[in-house]
Amino acid sequence: MLKERLNEVEARIEAACRRAGRRREEVTLIAVSKTKPKEVLQEAYDLGVRVFGENKVQELTEKYDALPEDIHWHMIGHLQTNKVKYIIDKVDLIHSVDSVRLAEAIEKEAAKRERTVNILVEVNVAEEESKFGIRMEEVIPFLEKIAVYSHIHVCGLMTIAPFVENPEENRSIFQNLHKLSVDIARKNIDNVNVNILSMGMTNDYEVAIEEGATMVRVGTGIFGARDYMISG
Ligand SMILES: *Cc1c(COP(=O)(O)O)cnc(C)c1O
Repeated sequence: MLKERLNEVEARIEAACRRAGRRREEVTLIAVSKTKPKEVLQEAYDLGVRVFGENKVQELTEKYDALPEDIHWHMIGHLQTNKVKYIIDKVDLIHSVDSVRLAEAIEKEAAKRERTVNILVEVNVAEEESKFGIRMEEVIPFLEKIAVYSHIHVCGLMTIAPFVENPEENRSIFQNLHKLSVDIARKNIDNVNVNILSMGMTNDYEVAIEEGATMVRVGTGIFGARDYMISG
């Protein structure tokens, strides 16, 4: 049941914060609702969830239109430049900026609307071939390049760790992302903050919190297994 799963995730987040000597308010839980029908999101909403993560533009906009206005939507999936315009006014944060081309597209759409868009840079810490994201050593040069875009506000970093049997195997990945954020902070790049570290999913969010995550993206742990029959 949704309620029980949500309570369990909440309890585990609290326990991880305690172990790490962190306050619960330092960590935002993003309920990753991709593939789930809007009735299920409404149910989560009724249980108090206000932050949802989606990875597809069309699915996000459909749910945005159908669900209450006080929801904070986060785009966590790979984003194509030609689709930026559909979500730019709907999301609080884009987690998945992984190219100058995409940053430029966001800048253009944001400038048109005379607003600033909050983004994270997706980092491929594990250097998995199959994953999107910028390699560790390329992140600072990347930030220096996109710092000229005055309608983009870089708020931090995001990574997707590999799927592993034992979440401890991902600890060094979270440590590396954290270290990178410290290096970036020291550089004082204009228009760039690294207060947000979006890392940790159902399988490893507790380890991520111990290593400094400020946002965890939990799907299965809240909603149960995904049904790809419904929306692909
Ligand atoms: C699907 C997804 C998640 C959630 O994954 P779970 O293992 O179900 O918690 C988190 N982040 C991203 C980017 C995703 O695509």
